[in-house]
Amino acid sequence: MRRLAIASGLLVCVAAFLAATTAPTSPTPLDTTGRTQADYNEQITTIKQQLPDTFTILQQPPFIVCGDDTPRRVKYYSEQTVAWAVKTLKNEYFEKDPTDLITIYLFKDEASYKKYTKQLFDEEPSTPYGYYSPTDKALIMNISTGGGTLVHEIVHPFVAANFPKCPAWFNEGLGSLYEQSGAKDGRIVGYTNWRLPALQKALKAATVPSFEKFCATTDNDFYTKDRGTNYGQARYLCYYLQEKGLLQNFYKAFLKNHEKDPTGYETLKSTLNEKDMPAFQKRWTDFTLALRYPDVH
Ligand SMILES: [Zn+2]
Repeated sequence: MRRLAIASGLLVCVAAFLAATTAPTSPTPLDTTGRTQADYNEQITTIKQQLPDTFTILQQPPFIVCGDDTPRRVKYYSEQTVAWAVKTLKNEYFEKDPTDLITIYLFKDEASYKKYTKQLFDEEPSTPYGYYSPTDKALIMNISTGGGTLVHEIVHPFVAANFPKCPAWFNEGLGSLYEQSGAKDGRIVGYTNWRLPALQKALKAATVPSFEKFCATTDNDFYTKDRGTNYGQARYLCYYLQEKGLLQNFYKAFLKNHEKDPTGYETLKSTLNEKDMPAFQKRWTDFTLALRYPDVH
């Protein structure tokens, strides 16, 4: 009996060993959507067919990065900007990777940006810097203008995957906050930037709407009826929250409450612990007027 038990125990072990070594292992997912190396390979093959050999194509999950700058510079942007932004933004806010496998096109100059935007997507860019096209599953950048817009645009597919009902004002506030950013204690932080002077001018002229009105702006109005301060007001509200250590809390609370509070205004009040919003508006205005860009001390 004993011998038999040992023998059968051995057989079980051998069977387990064989199963472990011969059973097909399921491919390791490379991002939170479950996409595998095969999915990335398939898309890289497609991109290779669309672009000349002069392009460098890199896998940078959850994205694919390609560009016609020198291979060294494409690699630099892929690792130092894309991978860094993905890591720090996920640490701060996002659990899920973008639903689509998005390709980031880094065109080396304006001529290349215009040429390939037309050739690949049949579009004429309305901005010199770059944009996110959900339809084309692409971030299309003129990288000669710098990496700031790239970080801004990376925010959008993450917001779409994690907070699909996020209103434009907060989506653009977060995106534009990080278009001028760096790291502090391993966390991503936005700095003052070129949007500040126009906002300060409007604040002095008292043409900036109340936050109650601003948060209630529809997405369509945010984009089509911008008097020039929508992005600035959104950005510097996010900047204020960041500087008070409240931005991550606001994001999480708004995500949780958005069905009840779709504009975010009530969540803003509770995050600020403020009932008197005109008093807050005054505080925020004074804070913003005291900011400097360039941020020299
Ligand atoms: Zn944007």
